[in-house]
Formats: sequence, structure tokens, C-alpha cells
Amino acid sequence: TSSRRRASPARRLALANQKGGVGKTTTAVNLATALASTERVLLIDLDPQGNASTGLGVPRTSRGAGTYALLTGEKTLAEVIHPTPIPNLSLLAADSDLAAAEVELVGEERRERRLADALDAGAEVLAGFDRIIFDCPPSLGLVTLNALVAAHAVIVPLQAEFFALEGVSQIARTLDRVRRGLNPALELEGIVLTMVDRRNNLSEMVGADVRSFFKDKVFDTTIPRNVRVSEAPSHGLPVILYDSRSLGAQAYIQLAHELLKRERARKRQAGTVARQG
Ligand code: ADP
Ligand code: MG
Repeated sequence: TSSRRRASPARRLALANQKGGVGKTTTAVNLATALASTERVLLIDLDPQGNASTGLGVPRTSRGAGTYALLTGEKTLAEVIHPTPIPNLSLLAADSDLAAAEVELVGEERRERRLADALDAGAEVLAGFDRIIFDCPPSLGLVTLNALVAAHAVIVPLQAEFFALEGVSQIARTLDRVRRGLNPALELEGIVLTMVDRRNNLSEMVGADVRSFFKDKVFDTTIPRNVRVSEAPSHGLPVILYDSRSLGAQAYIQLAHELLKRERARKRQAGTVARQG
């Protein structure tokens, strides 16, 4: 990474949903890759499965210490961040011990703030990044809570299926709880519908339901079910690099554009409000 430093802190985005298999990791990896074409991005893998690390082509054997060592305070941020084969994209990998953190941290002080504290302590290092993306495990346990406390905003990937709305209200309640206590500024950046199958009526109906409930919190961009997306991780590549012309890749590139557009619009609005004072 370059030595260019930014004036404002890197925006921290968490990909969270307590359900597994909804596209958190796929979205984290591809959003990170798409954003890395214009920003310096750090992806933090918080799932002991380590799928985000694998999906970026960083094999288990070359990961060294990762998020577990950071959360327990064994290592500093500078010691656990590594470059990836993708330009402008760095990785803080998940070590398999991370599964134990859920239990081990319970008795610790500031247990929900471990990640936020470690990032604050590593401010020097983070000054080299524009964006930090957290890939969360499939639970609303202590590790996900750490991400929600450290994040500025959350993106919820949602698979358009029968119980989707029920699942999203559970995470919405968790976000409310975090806002009332540990991180009042936490925003819901948006909900992204994943693995959408246009030929499937249920998928369409659930999508419409989610939109009528969460309105413009739902990204216009939806991610189609696409076989190239599911093939990409076994090649150690984000689908954007594995097959950039596939529908899945195009959707993720579009999602990154939509995210940047929304962020710019909000910034402008905030500026207007501030001037009107
Ligand atoms: P999570 O991180 O929420 O558990 P993943 O991103 O790992 O979910 O996705 C679960 C599985 O579905 C993976 O095998 C992934 O490759 C596959 N998958 C994700 N998104 C798509 C998609 N749009 N089309 C096809 N397969 C997908
Ligand atoms: Mg995952």
C-alpha cells in the first residue's frame, strides 16, 4: 500500500446476518475487491471457517496469526495485516482458534469492545486504508457483536426465501440493542438480496415483501444466483476476477457503485444540513 494518508477515518462496514449460507462472505470478498479498484481496502475475516481468506487466495498455511490473536491481545494490528494477491486489498485472516474466542472472551473486561479497542490502538496502521470490511460469522454472538461495536454501518445480505423477513427482523433488533448501548452511531447501510432467482416466484415475492418493509434500505442492486459465483472460491478468486463478465461479477460491481453513490449522497445531505445549521 502507498503511504498516502487520509484525513477522515476509514469507513468500517460489517457484513452480518446470523444465518449461514446467505452470501455474507461472498459479498464481503467481492465488495472488497470491487472497492479496491478505487480505495485501499482492509478485509477482516471474523469467521473461524476462514472462507473469506480462502476466497481471496490466501491459503490456511500462509495465514499466520489472525483475528483471534488480535481479539485476545496477543498481537497488534500491524502484526496481523497482510497484503493479498489483489492490489490495494489487505487481509486480516481468521485463525481457526477464533471459534474459541466466543467462549474465552466472555469473562474478559470490555469483551464487546475488543475489536474496536484493537483498531483504535492501530490507528497509525489504519491511516493507510480508506475502507474496512468485516466478514462476520453466522451468529449474533460475541464476535459479531465486536464487529457491530467497531463498525460505522452494517450491510445485511439476505437470501430471498420464505423465512427471510423473520431473519432480518432478528438482526434489526440486535442493531437496535447495539445502538441503545455500545455503539449509538451504528447505521444500517442496507440490505442486499442475494442468490435471487428471477424464474422463482417465491424469490420475487419475498424480495417485494422485504422492499415494502425496509423501503429504500434495500439496495436496488440484487445479486443473482449464478454458478460462476459458487465456482470462484475454489479457484481462490473473487468472482469479479474469476469471470468478470458473469452476471454475478457484474452485480457485485454494480453493488459497489451503488454503495459509493449512496455514501456520497448522504455526505452531501449531511453537508447541507450542517450549513443550514
Ligand atoms: P455466508 O458467508 O453467509 O455463510 P457464503 O457467501 O459463504 O455465505 O455463501 C454460501 C454458499 O453459497 C457458498 O458456497 C457460495 O459460493 C454460494 N453463493 C453465494 N452467493 C451465490 C450466488 N449469487 N450464486 C450462487 N452461489 C452463491
Ligand atoms: Mg461466511
